[in-house]
Amino acid sequence: MTGEVRGVSGPIRHALVTVRQSFDSDYCSEGAQAVREHPDRFEFRRCLPFLFIYLGCIGLVWVGWSWTAVAVAFALYWIRMFGITAFYDRYFSHRTFRTSRSGQFAFAALGNTAVQRGALWWAAVHRHHHKDAETEHDVHSPGDDSRNNFLLAVVTLGEGWHNHHHRFMRAARQGFYCWEFDPTWYALKALSWTELIRDLNPMPERVYAEAEAQHLRPQAA
Ligand SMILES: [Zn+2]
Ligand SMILES: [Zn+2]
Repeated sequence: MTGEVRGVSGPIRHALVTVRQSFDSDYCSEGAQAVREHPDRFEFRRCLPFLFIYLGCIGLVWVGWSWTAVAVAFALYWIRMFGITAFYDRYFSHRTFRTSRSGQFAFAALGNTAVQRGALWWAAVHRHHHKDAETEHDVHSPGDDSRNNFLLAVVTLGEGWHNHHHRFMRAARQGFYCWEFDPTWYALKALSWTELIRDLNPMPERVYAEAEAQHLRPQAA
């Protein structure tokens, strides 16, 4: 498609570039260096597919709704959320457990259904986020302090323990304590019994000891 994109100009060229970038995360029509020089550039065209998806909800007026449709919507949300937190974040970005080659393909395919681009692109950007987390260079939310939040942990299947995750990203669990709801961790633990995945990275004792020293958790009686 490179030839077609280069052979036309103006809005049509922009549209073709946008379509190509939807399938090829690494494609940069103006060259990689030009993209690096503008890391904060906002590409409205890339947002259009998502805008259309949201606008599609208006179609409810014509097609109506059912409890089955609601159940399917919730199920798809949880499955895709699991694909993102369990596999894009905890596996492809941080390698917190191991799996087979076929497992890698299956997990990448599941994560892909959440339409957050490919596993390798996601992991690269996410590692960049962790590298500069809590600083102004953070690609996601600069200088903001991350928090632990139970409600967000419920909605995101465990990602709400985000301050923990920033503290130690190499652990398979993001809720560090048994009272911190982390359903993705429970599911990963169950998957490890099937040997689909293995070698879940534990939380090191030194991190718990550090939290106790800083009075971030109650001392054991
Ligand atoms: Zn992460
Ligand atoms: Zn983060």
